[in-house]
Amino acid sequence: MCSMTWLYDSHIHLSDTEYEHDIPLIMNCMKRLCIKACCVSMDYSSSIKTLELGKQSDLVLPFIGIHPEKAQDDTESVFKLIDENNEKISGIGEIGLDSTYTNSDEEFGKQEEVFKTQLSYAEKFGKPVSIHSRKTLDQILEILSSYKVPSVLLHWFDGSKKQLQKAMDLDCYVSFGPVMVYSKDKQVLLSKANKDKILVETDGPVRFSRCFENKTAQIDFIPSIVFCASKVLHVNYDELCDVIEQNSKRFLML
Ligand SMILES: [Zn+2]
Repeated sequence: MCSMTWLYDSHIHLSDTEYEHDIPLIMNCMKRLCIKACCVSMDYSSSIKTLELGKQSDLVLPFIGIHPEKAQDDTESVFKLIDENNEKISGIGEIGLDSTYTNSDEEFGKQEEVFKTQLSYAEKFGKPVSIHSRKTLDQILEILSSYKVPSVLLHWFDGSKKQLQKAMDLDCYVSFGPVMVYSKDKQVLLSKANKDKILVETDGPVRFSRCFENKTAQIDFIPSIVFCASKVLHVNYDELCDVIEQNSKRFLML
């Protein structure tokens, strides 16, 4: 198949209904552009869909789990799914904390408990995790320090330089997506991250503004994101593709 470097979208929701009718097109595009994708899930039904996509193509790297937005729903069924499919999945995600999805301390407590349970599964089965950390980075880094999860991605990294340093000290990977193409802040963070911890993502089906014209993120944004990152980091495109391939494989323990 691909004789060139493989690119990896480290975080995309291909199980989302937004992509439902385009899966064959997307899979074709992935083959053509040599892109593999870490496909994350939100809840039970998207985890089931992600597992099915994983069966359809080995370019799909299935991550299943409970997103902080869904932490108040039935969680046992997803825990069981992780347990039963631990040999099939590439990782656990999207997991994390986000108080914008909770209405009380009690709900936040539940979210934290669901996050910790999933970290325990990652520890037990030796799986990478994909973490959502909107406005909760300090708490998440604190919690992570007491788990032995083999590899951690702080997806859509949006912290301060100090938090970035803490994340680097804890050996976390950080990913940058379409926003980095037009946001100076993100470009600064990218330039401060350790080169061996940088990944790229689309977080599709999120829509991005500016040059992306509010269209649903597509997997074929990945080469543009890498190209833009190569300008920020003052390295050539091919060189950065190699670095990101190596980083992605290390994150995924391949
Ligand atoms: Zn996401």
